[in-house]
Amino acid sequence: AEWAAAVAALRDLSADARVLLICHVNPDGDALGSMLGFALGLHRLGVRRLQATFPGPPEVPLPFQGLPGLDLLVPADAAWTDPDLVLCFDAASASRLGPLADRLLTARSVVLDHHASNTRFGAIHLVDPMAAATSVVAEQLLDRLGVPLDRQIAECFYVAVATDTGSFRFDATTPAVHEMAARLIATGLRPGDIARRVFDSRPFGAVRLYGDVLQRAELEPGAAGGRGLVWTYATLDDLARHDQPAYVLEALIDSVRCAIEADVSCVLKQVAAGEWAVSLRSKGAVDVSRVAVALGGGGHRLAAGFTGYGSAAQVVEAIRAELTGGDVLTGGSTPADGGVFPEDQG
Ligand code: 5GP
Ligand code: MN
Ligand code: MN
Repeated sequence: AEWAAAVAALRDLSADARVLLICHVNPDGDALGSMLGFALGLHRLGVRRLQATFPGPPEVPLPFQGLPGLDLLVPADAAWTDPDLVLCFDAASASRLGPLADRLLTARSVVLDHHASNTRFGAIHLVDPMAAATSVVAEQLLDRLGVPLDRQIAECFYVAVATDTGSFRFDATTPAVHEMAARLIATGLRPGDIARRVFDSRPFGAVRLYGDVLQRAELEPGAAGGRGLVWTYATLDDLARHDQPAYVLEALIDSVRCAIEADVSCVLKQVAAGEWAVSLRSKGAVDVSRVAVALGGGGHRLAAGFTGYGSAAQVVEAIRAELTGGDVLTGGSTPADGGVFPEDQG
């Protein structure tokens, strides 16, 4: 029923309708890729008045600067306040939309997402927790609208699904994901070029910055015979010293979580004095979304995050307390608890 409502809302648009597309703060490959790919699809459908936007600093992270459709982006404070239709991508809750959250308070809004924790904000909900990325939902909706994939749309959706599956490595990488990837690659896009741009491009200053931050990583032993916690932190001073923007730290957790001695990994990224954006990852035994929720954030079982306050040591102590309560860092066993959620790196 919600799919029919979404299709009707998009089919019934008048020629001069203004459509606003929004994705979550600190946009990742899925947020930008699903939003821009869908915007290009609407353009093919004849929708001419399109704006795409996200809250926070309007800079597009370097890995995504080659995405088609970037010309549709406008800064959040320039976005229409009363569009005829609002589409929201990859945001589990309205809090991920900052000052743009009020745009979803209209009956003319469609939310496309894949977070199990989606709070069902907005009017029409296309939320599939089994989808590996929001772009899977976006591709389905374009298909129902009769918009064929072209190479530009496909590049956006490919970046989205490749980033959210960790380059097709996570358990959410189902046959359907590879079938979608096959459809996307069949448009002529070059997976090698995209992977190099998105995953393997970093300024030299960022390479050095990673060196500093990885050098100070700490490993804490786990429960008797078990595995522990590996963590590190990056300050605003680290960024300034290497002249790097904050987003270069997004992939840092992937270097930290490799440590085989740890089940849980954590990176603290300083946002302001006494404020940290915290990334948590689990290898499977621990549900880090519980830790994140307990500390005011959210996410998936194996990838979650929250905003921490105080010193880095205080934030890590709060995480340690949650893990200890769950018998991860002290004695006792930690049972895995059931289903595997699709992972999402942002
Ligand atoms: P990342 O560590 O890559 O920033 O985020 C990993 C996962 O945790 C994503 O699914 C994201 O939605 C979630 N997440 C990260 N930070 C926050 C936060 O501050 N609040 C909430 N609710 N979820 C977060
Ligand atoms: Mn996603
Ligand atoms: Mn995301």
